[in-house]
Amino acid sequence: MSESLAERVDAVTVVGAGTMGHGIAQTFATAGYDVTIVDVDEEILETALEKIEGSLAKLGEDPDAALDRIETTTSDEEAYGDADLVVEAVPEDIDLKAEVFATIDDLAPDRAILATNTSTLPITEIASATDRPGNVVGMHFSNPVQLMEIVEIIRGEETSDDVFEAVQELSEEIGKAPVLVEKDIPGFLINRINLRFWLEAVRQVEQGIQNKETIDAAIRRIGLPMGPFEVLDFSGIDVATMAARSMRDRGVDLHVPDLLEKKTDAGDYGMKTGDGFYTYPEPGEYSRVDIPRERRHDFDPKHLLAPAVNEAAWLLANDVTTKSEIDKAMKIGMNWPRGLLEFADELGIDRLVETLETLRERSGWEEYEPHPLLREMASNDEVGQKSGIGFYEWEYERTQFETVQYERREDLAWITLDRPDQLNALDEPSWKGLNAALERAARDEDVRATVLTGSGRAFCAGDDIAEIQSWESADDAAEMVDEVLGPTAKTLRNHPKPLIAAVNGVANGGGCELVLLSDLAVASEGSDFALPEAKIGALPPIGLTYGRMSLGKKDIMELALTGDQLTASEAESMGIVNYVVGDEQVADVAHELARSTTASAPGSVAEMKDLWTGMEDDLLDAWFGDALDRLVERTQSAEASEGLAAFLEKRDPDWQR
Ligand code: NAD
Repeated sequence: MSESLAERVDAVTVVGAGTMGHGIAQTFATAGYDVTIVDVDEEILETALEKIEGSLAKLGEDPDAALDRIETTTSDEEAYGDADLVVEAVPEDIDLKAEVFATIDDLAPDRAILATNTSTLPITEIASATDRPGNVVGMHFSNPVQLMEIVEIIRGEETSDDVFEAVQELSEEIGKAPVLVEKDIPGFLINRINLRFWLEAVRQVEQGIQNKETIDAAIRRIGLPMGPFEVLDFSGIDVATMAARSMRDRGVDLHVPDLLEKKTDAGDYGMKTGDGFYTYPEPGEYSRVDIPRERRHDFDPKHLLAPAVNEAAWLLANDVTTKSEIDKAMKIGMNWPRGLLEFADELGIDRLVETLETLRERSGWEEYEPHPLLREMASNDEVGQKSGIGFYEWEYERTQFETVQYERREDLAWITLDRPDQLNALDEPSWKGLNAALERAARDEDVRATVLTGSGRAFCAGDDIAEIQSWESADDAAEMVDEVLGPTAKTLRNHPKPLIAAVNGVANGGGCELVLLSDLAVASEGSDFALPEAKIGALPPIGLTYGRMSLGKKDIMELALTGDQLTASEAESMGIVNYVVGDEQVADVAHELARSTTASAPGSVAEMKDLWTGMEDDLLDAWFGDALDRLVERTQSAEASEGLAAFLEKRDPDWQR
């Protein structure tokens, strides 16, 4: 096989020995290339060599081996005469870059590949300063080059396939992950996506909608290493502002927030100046910002992710890049635990479209208009993990058990009480369906955790009153209790996987008891909780027995004896639910909690579940049986017939004593 263009590259010239240039030179030299650095004066070159030496020592590399491969010069002839690859890193000024490229074009051999590290200027315009635009390509490294693995490879309008492929190969040779950007668009890929994410964060703070610490806490919560304000401070508010201004000036529909402009104009660039969104001990001295973790659920990360996904949709629809390149860029370039489009599929494309519509309405700005690609995906039910297909394909199955929907989304089971017009009240088919769905989740070895939720606006309004009223004898009641309710409660308690309740509305009676039986629970701000059985002459068998495992006597007795309703935050402070979140975040946080449990050792999880069930058995199982017997009797009592009648007639019961 003949040598590829990349394999023919030995001699690399780096133009400009500044922040980026010295890092690029070091990286190529470490990978074994012969490197020449050219700059306008000797002093700058000496400083660059010192920096390289220091950096190599810090990284534990042999400084001499790499330094031996680096030469410096201020002479253009020496720099370019024998170069196979030139990487330009002079200041971001189109006239300067055009002049430098014209010089390179005059002096470099015909074979040379000419790359520019520009962040914001069109590759095509830079290439037009040469007579060989086919050899010119964008090679956008990230700062600090020695540490950042990502490099964007940008195709100018005339870049040849050979050159485009060669710089990919060379990037891999020097240990970088190339992200391919097939069109020369403002902001390329990473800045375009990052800016959508960051600018919305800044806007929320500027408009007093949210504070920066809460946003940063919420973004760390979903697994990103830093929140947007931390990142902006770290990488330079000035750099982001410049990139945003340049994209806007080149026709991208994007508003640069005043707050960002002000910080930049005031010289508050972040860590490097000591002040940005946060304050640092010394200019240039990084210290991790103290972010209040307890506020992590108070902001919906979809507000930042949706504009970024919208931008990604634009990039895909315009054939700028591919899904895998976008996700690689965010995972490797920004250290995200998952790619942007993987996040999108987890959250649901339909939900992201809704978020964009909210943002669009709030701002009146066209830039938030959901991209047609996203709308189309939503209308084709290609919404992500919850339909088995979104940007990617996911393992998915759906079965209906009576009035209960069972889904397996990757390694999570989602069980949805699905009688929305009856507020998911538990009638016999619902209990049976729930039992069957739980058994399916328990049996399926690929299921690692189970989420239980309700469809529509309720979680579960409780037992089906009309059904209770239809029982004609104690035998009817006993049959239902012994054959349906009791076994389902047992299946719930014995469920071998973590069971997470996603409470999206009212959780009354049996609904509240389901929450008490779950291992973890998330509730929407608008949800409420009650055990109102005594108001109809019945009693809450699960609440009074297994409920004791999560509640103290005073709490459980208040609930059971009064039947009064609790707000979500009261339920949280009592320990009925772990977290109360905005309505639009219930499913997301339930998913996050479920996912977190799947990161634990499966054997440990199974042992803990088993221990807990055993404890409940020893302490309470007999009492649960007793409670069921009493419930059967209660349903046939004079009090129950009065209580049920009063409930259905919407009047106060008249208890005979
Ligand atoms: P810098 O100012 O630190 O360094 C530029 C160097 O180029 C200076 O040493 C300067 O003396 C030298 N120079 C100027 N004219 C020259 C010429 N005619 N010939 C040779 N050398 C010359 O700039 P930087 O931050 O390293 O940025 C360089 C490029 O990299 C810019 O295009 C910038 O947009 C891009 N970039 C910067 C970053 C970053 O975070 N700093 C990140 C990605 C890309």
